[in-house]
Amino acid sequence: MTEWQKSNWRAKPRVQMPDYTDADALAAVEGQLSQYPPLVFAGEARSLKQQLGAAGRGEAFLLQGGDCAESFDQFSADAIRDTFQVMLQMAMVLTYGAKVPVVKVGRMAGQFAKPRSAPTEVIDGVELPSYRGDIINELAFTPEARIPDPKKMLHAYTQAAATLNLLRAFSTGGFADMSRVHSWTLGFTNAQDEQKYSEVADRIQDTIDFMSAAGITADTTHEFSTVKFYTSHESLLLEYEEALTRLDSTSGNWLAGSGHMIWIGDRTRQPDGAHVEFCSGVLNPIGLKCGPTTTADDLKVLMNKLNPGNEEGRLTLIARFGAGKVAEHLPRLIQAVREEGAKVTWVCDPMHGNTIKSSSGYKTRPFDSVLREVRDFFAVHKAEGTIPGGVHFEMTGQDVTECTGGVRAVTDEDLSDRYHTACDPRLNASQSLELAFLVAEELSD
Ligand code: PEP
Ligand code: MN
Repeated sequence: MTEWQKSNWRAKPRVQMPDYTDADALAAVEGQLSQYPPLVFAGEARSLKQQLGAAGRGEAFLLQGGDCAESFDQFSADAIRDTFQVMLQMAMVLTYGAKVPVVKVGRMAGQFAKPRSAPTEVIDGVELPSYRGDIINELAFTPEARIPDPKKMLHAYTQAAATLNLLRAFSTGGFADMSRVHSWTLGFTNAQDEQKYSEVADRIQDTIDFMSAAGITADTTHEFSTVKFYTSHESLLLEYEEALTRLDSTSGNWLAGSGHMIWIGDRTRQPDGAHVEFCSGVLNPIGLKCGPTTTADDLKVLMNKLNPGNEEGRLTLIARFGAGKVAEHLPRLIQAVREEGAKVTWVCDPMHGNTIKSSSGYKTRPFDSVLREVRDFFAVHKAEGTIPGGVHFEMTGQDVTECTGGVRAVTDEDLSDRYHTACDPRLNASQSLELAFLVAEELSD
């Protein structure tokens, strides 16, 4: 077999990628990006892989979350801080429920490219190419805005670098102190209608008080005041991915330097396609979305291609079937994994199978369907004797109105108030935290 090269994907069929019209402009951007420093270090990707391996064995639990699509317009320190903050709160609640470390991975610092259900979009009889994420073209519905522009990759790189820089500062600079994180959660549970969560929150507070009395505080204990926070995105725009791929001098293997973990979407997982080819050769942990159309045979081929050495933590299968469909699809894929003797980490994405159009015309996701898919996922794993290794959410720390439901109920009519996503609807801060309490309940059963 010929040795893997970062450009091999170019010889494979590609889907969901733009046709850049200006080849010189594209080559110039690729040249520039390949001179830039990678955003992550190989040792970090390896340690995330180890932790995902632990999640696969039930000795850790993955919390992966963030925007459907990061946006250039909505980029701000506050937005990054708010999502980071709510993820830490969720992680603390989940740690309490699962009694194992929670591995925190943002859909952040690189989640810019989007697969679309159709190549074009028609509004009022006008047909234009679809919006494919800020790294490719623009959301505005004009012919100029929808032309793919390679220079946007440089903008995305800069935004990803700045995002990661702030995340690293928050992770170790005192912001992540456990007692601070928990004090934010107490605010959520004190509201009258949220009493059902306050018991768990009080128990976490008791534990923190006990630890401080025993001398375990942010001042004395590193683990109390810092967190490890990783980044991830869909590896969709392969020109960008290739340009940031670097040889790791420690291992002699290739690193996708664009983020710690990358995943393959439900629309780009063709076993002989470009995306699988690219991901097969980099050392990062790889996610693979599994939907209702994933066949057992394809999954077997994909597991062998993406993880030929059957390395723990290398492959995370992100199940996204839709509420009410998990029992139909998950067992057959678990069976395929069993037949191959494959080591995988199973994660539940309860977002992408539960998108509907609300009566007010907005694309939304009912909180109840999201919760139901998570519960179905846990129930199937319990029945099969396999491990539910984590959850994957589209969420934000901002107070948006994009998904309906939750204790501070967002109604169909509310959706227009603060509907800010450029792509799929996200859980807001309160819905995200509520979901963490409910998942923690599942984990402690
Ligand atoms: C996504 O994660 O935003 C996405 C498009 O998911 P999927 O590939 O599972 O549809
Ligand atoms: Mn999405």
